[in-house]
Amino acid sequence: MTKSSEQHGNGLPVLILLGPPGAGKGTQAKKLEERFGLVQLSTGDLLRDAVARGTEAGKAAKDVMEAGGLVGDDIVIQIVADRLEAQHCAQGVILDGFPRTTAQARALDDILSQKGTGVDAAISLEVDDAAMIERISGRYTCAGCGEGYHQSFKTPERDGVCDKCGGTEFKHRADDNAETVRSRLEAYHADTAPLIEFYDAKGALHRVDAMQSIAGVERSLTDLVAPITGVAVA
Ligand code: AMP
Repeated sequence: MTKSSEQHGNGLPVLILLGPPGAGKGTQAKKLEERFGLVQLSTGDLLRDAVARGTEAGKAAKDVMEAGGLVGDDIVIQIVADRLEAQHCAQGVILDGFPRTTAQARALDDILSQKGTGVDAAISLEVDDAAMIERISGRYTCAGCGEGYHQSFKTPERDGVCDKCGGTEFKHRADDNAETVRSRLEAYHADTAPLIEFYDAKGALHRVDAMQSIAGVERSLTDLVAPITGVAVA
């Protein structure tokens, strides 16, 4: 279900960030979270957490994630349904990395429609494959606070010290290697790219040029999201 413009403001704003690995979904979701008070819901982060904690879902997901494939719809849909029930999502959510298949998109519609709401906007971050590979291979995060960095595009102001929390340990995702990235791109083109058409047909699709700088993409997204949330931006 897609909300009509008259329905905006009723129920929690629900935004989807669509785009291939490396398009900047996680980076931009965090910025939208800070600016608009929305909650980022990243299925990749939730699955990595489930793997680290050794839960049943984590055990089922581990090998698939390492190979760059897609984790089963049932597992991912359950994780998202549980999260959307959580109190802290009441201000609205940015879905980052979900849905990734048409079955997930339909399940999301069902979950939201039971809450009397729907998707406000599905935002496609558009980049080309070559740029994604460069972005993914250079990225790393602070082990303490999760702030994202990139060897070429965003290094800490003081070498080896996180700008945000002062931490000095950084980590690189195990699936950010050339071979796995290729599989993740294939999964994107085969299973996730069709969602662009799915949301376009519902009138909910917005396209953003994600080849711009991080700040440029942030400006485009802010202009798009401000009217949806009703938050005035200076
Ligand atoms: P991400 O952090 O979004 O790049 O996701 C990392 C990995 O988690 C993906 O390569 C998939 O193996 C898995 N994953 C994350 N979200 C989903 C989803 N919605 N459906 C299936 N698998 C997912």
